[in-house]
Amino acid sequence: MALNEQDVRHLRRCVALAEEALDGGDMAFGSVLVSAEGAVLAEDHNRINSHEPTWHPEVALAHWAAEHLNETERARSTLYTSGEHCPMCAAAHAWAGLGRIVYASSAEQFSGWCAEWGLPASPVNPLAINEVAPEIEVAGPVPELAEQIRELHKRYFGIKDGHKS
Ligand SMILES: [Zn+2]
Repeated sequence: MALNEQDVRHLRRCVALAEEALDGGDMAFGSVLVSAEGAVLAEDHNRINSHEPTWHPEVALAHWAAEHLNETERARSTLYTSGEHCPMCAAAHAWAGLGRIVYASSAEQFSGWCAEWGLPASPVNPLAINEVAPEIEVAGPVPELAEQIRELHKRYFGIKDGHKS
């Protein structure tokens, strides 16, 4: 499914939230939950260092939605995110009955960047969302935004000239 102007606007907000996370010492991930009518319902960013290690924005927003939205509202919502969900977040999204996901950069891209920079593998396999939750409608990545996110991750990991310094 092609992305429209509104999709790209929400993804840009996710990139800004990812940068906010980075500025606060967390990993550069940000997400926005949007209603069927296009209203921003909630947003969050990564808080693994400032709060606790499972505080990924996508799982935080799944918890928020389960508490604040009814079943129909959850199913009709769209979750925008700077980086494709990890398996924990994809499972939380599906268990919460949330709708479409649009991501700016993929899990495959992120694990590829980490390998390229000589970083240790993630403790969780980088499965695509649909490998975890096959019924979720998914769109992404967006090359121009993925490039911006790559730069944010480089800053987080202190990558200079393609290697960890
Ligand atoms: Zn996650």
